[in-house]
Amino acid sequence: MTNASTPAQSRRRQVVIVGSGFGGLFAAQRLKKADVDVTLIAKTTSHLFQPMLYQLATGIVAEGEIAPATRVVLQKQRNTRVLLGEVFDIDVENKTVSSQLLERITTTDYDDLIIAAGADQSYFGNDHFAEYAPGMKTIDHALELRGRILGAFEQAELSHDKAEQDKLLTFVVIGAGPTGVEMAGQIAEMSDKTLKGAFRNIDPTQARVILLDAAPAVLAPFGPKLGAKATKRLEKLGVEIQLNAMVTDLDYDGLVVREKDGTERRIESQCKVWSAGVQASSLGAVLREKTGVELDRAGRVKVGPDLTVPGHPNIFVVGDMMAVDGVPGVAQGAIQGGRYAADAILAELKHQQRPEDRKPFSYFDKGSMATVSRFSAVMQVPIPGTKRKFETEGYFAWLGWLALHLVYLVGYRSRLNTLVNWFFAFSTRGRTQLAVTEQQVYARSALHELSKLEQHRLAQAEADGDPAAVAAAKETERVTGTDAPAKPADSA
Ligand SMILES: Cc1cc2nc3c(=O)[nH]c(=O)nc-3n(C[C@H](O)[C@H](O)[C@H](O)COP(=O)(O)OP(=O)(O)OC[C@H]3O[C@@H](n4cnc5c(N)ncnc54)[C@H](O)[C@@H]3O)c2cc1C
Repeated sequence: MTNASTPAQSRRRQVVIVGSGFGGLFAAQRLKKADVDVTLIAKTTSHLFQPMLYQLATGIVAEGEIAPATRVVLQKQRNTRVLLGEVFDIDVENKTVSSQLLERITTTDYDDLIIAAGADQSYFGNDHFAEYAPGMKTIDHALELRGRILGAFEQAELSHDKAEQDKLLTFVVIGAGPTGVEMAGQIAEMSDKTLKGAFRNIDPTQARVILLDAAPAVLAPFGPKLGAKATKRLEKLGVEIQLNAMVTDLDYDGLVVREKDGTERRIESQCKVWSAGVQASSLGAVLREKTGVELDRAGRVKVGPDLTVPGHPNIFVVGDMMAVDGVPGVAQGAIQGGRYAADAILAELKHQQRPEDRKPFSYFDKGSMATVSRFSAVMQVPIPGTKRKFETEGYFAWLGWLALHLVYLVGYRSRLNTLVNWFFAFSTRGRTQLAVTEQQVYARSALHELSKLEQHRLAQAEADGDPAAVAAAKETERVTGTDAPAKPADSA
């Protein structure tokens, strides 16, 4: 075990931040000039720009462009260090967090803790669906999906069986929210334009792309008008939209869908994408156990008006992990939450404000956007002083989406590379990032096999009644992450 705490003699106020996403990174940057020591602990080495994951999955951009290394982003911030590790415990009595990297456990002291560990995909209690329909939350997910999409075309090229070809060339995206719409639109454009003429035995333009949702509308949070526009645009691209269709089962070769009237039907499809639900980080459950704080159905922490855990004025929970009325799970919610927490710490440090005098967090809604395809997006921006929203769609909304996402991408090199890739992709319909490695596609299965092996070892050790072997097997099991807790389900 390692203790990563600062020696007592040189001790300044210790701020620990969990997560290097929007909430964590923006909180850390806000503390740049503060007279504190900041430790940012994250289980991934980069700051991932999730809104562009669909472009990674469909070969428009490379992972480095949307996920710069966090320690390099914070390289010049001298009061800040970055630790790689997955936080698994928070000791609120002794004010420490414990994190794990491979077999190494690290304990870090904190005076102030900002937890911004985000959310995972939710399969509504059917976690085994993940094996057949990866979600879209991490770089691994996006690269695995890229491999599966392109792999389906490759397999179809080798097949001479019509039914098999149809199954391979049917792509199903589950969840018609912004991510689902973006994925469906991009798979359709890729098969129709980028891959057109690249195969000899199959015609990629004949691929079926199905976007389905249990809800009755596409892009429901954007309202009926923009939802209808997006539907029309997707249909023009050839995307089949199936609403009021709930997935009840899913396997390697397809899925079963239940209609509103209760009838069930099967769709044969090898490549499925899941973008239907979110579940807050399991660190919320750790906090509930340690502090008694309530969680909502999606596992988000019900924080107080100052984004802290009730009774713990120096434990902030921000971003996708926090449950605050009127704050959606979007980048701006996380950025503003992270900055608010940092400002509260700064104010306390300067003796300007006691925790009990903090002004409640107030979310400034800057609007929302989703792209549908090349040259097409929907945009909704609140009109100041009213409860109404300005809505637009089409080319200008799409340009707005590009500009805004460029602004929030971290690092000028990432922006420049992305700009070049966009220019190429949107002017020629070519894609520069269509490489796929076997590991990207098969890593999930390999980890699954490893986990089964560990469980077998544990069962064997228990059957043999050998306490040392049981302890060793349990330790390996924790390191390989096979004891991940089952998660409750909720919708996006
Ligand atoms: C595909 C997709 C598209 C999206 N598109 C948009 C969009 O167009 N516009 C928009 O505004 N929002 C969009 N969002 C939502 C937006 O990305 C999130 O709201 C935002 O990223 C939340 O920020 P966060 O800091 O709470 O969490 P995240 O950005 O998810 O960061 C979580 C961090 O915590 C780390 N972490 C997790 N668990 C642990 C642990 N136990 N120990 C240590 N570290 C841990 C992770 O490695 C990561 O660094 C999209 C999200 C997705 C998935």
